[in-house]
Amino acid sequence: MVAREYADLLGALPLPALVIDREERIAASNTEARAVIGQGIEGRNFVTMLRQPALIDAVEGTLRDGQARTVPYLSNDGAQDTTFQVTVRTVDSLNVVLLCFIDVTHLERAVQMRRDFVANVSHELRTPLTALTGFIETLRGPAREDAAARERFLDIMDGEASRMNRLVGDLLSLSRVEADERVRPRGKVVLTDILASVLRTLTPLADEAGVVFETQFPDGPVTILGDADQLMQVFTNLVENAIKYGAAGGRVTVRIEVAERDPALRAPGVRVYVADDGPGIDAVHLPRLTERFYRADSHRSRALGGTGLGLAIVKHIVNRHRGRLRVESELGQGACFIVILPMDVPAA
Ligand code: ADP
Repeated sequence: MVAREYADLLGALPLPALVIDREERIAASNTEARAVIGQGIEGRNFVTMLRQPALIDAVEGTLRDGQARTVPYLSNDGAQDTTFQVTVRTVDSLNVVLLCFIDVTHLERAVQMRRDFVANVSHELRTPLTALTGFIETLRGPAREDAAARERFLDIMDGEASRMNRLVGDLLSLSRVEADERVRPRGKVVLTDILASVLRTLTPLADEAGVVFETQFPDGPVTILGDADQLMQVFTNLVENAIKYGAAGGRVTVRIEVAERDPALRAPGVRVYVADDGPGIDAVHLPRLTERFYRADSHRSRALGGTGLGLAIVKHIVNRHRGRLRVESELGQGACFIVILPMDVPAA
């Protein structure tokens, strides 16, 4: 096979690949490989071009004994790191070694995310558990005969157990929502009824905080294709946050707007605005707000019994409905969460 044929063959491969001959030169490479290793590599000795010791050792080994090898290779194009698994194999009839670079960056990222998630969940569970264990010890020991202390501690323990319950409940919701994120919701739901029901359910919480609701709904029902239970959860989370984080004695406004053509969706859509007049959210937090366990004001969230999962659940449900979630806020100016939903859920 001549160099041109090698180049043709490598050109048809969908991943960076190159051929090294018995003279230890790079005999051919495809565009993808040159993007990773560099231009002008053909005809050059592979040791000077590949540089990373693990890969060089692997190629030398395979040239020597003909055994296939797989080694990691890290590259950086100046903007981001990419992790490859490089397969080093002989092509016996042509007496060359073929290197294929398999991009495993997304796999590594997924593994890292899972690791972080488990660490976060353990941390979140450990805090209430530690408190519970501590109080059990106190009740068995020093506070054994102290009825007043016992009542106080049992109240705190009740609170910590509820926190764990909420956390487990939110984790289960999140995993259910993730599981059917690709399934299109097909139910006909009356959005105005859902919002009215959410506000009814949350009225006691609002009363407790001295918060009043203001609604700006269009005349008549607004119907969309969606999953009623999940949409209920979206607006419960958003209105609950607006009550929790908004100003005590303030106002939570829920507005529904219908558009023939929503600019964000380029299709008929409904926008639901949930706005409060609380302290708002600093712009630095906005891009990360929907990450699991991300809290803009960690102290406040924990004091209010937040799990840090509410907005992550909202985001997944809105994604499932092929909608958008926007947050507009400035410190001191309140926060406004906008859910944009298509009237008719389009195919993925
Ligand atoms: P949490 O359980 O902590 O409330 P969420 O995922 O619902 O978790 O919200 C993430 C974070 O976003 C909260 O911890 C809070 O700091 C911030 N946040 C959410 N809604 C508001 C709001 N209306 N005003 C100010 N901050 C908010």
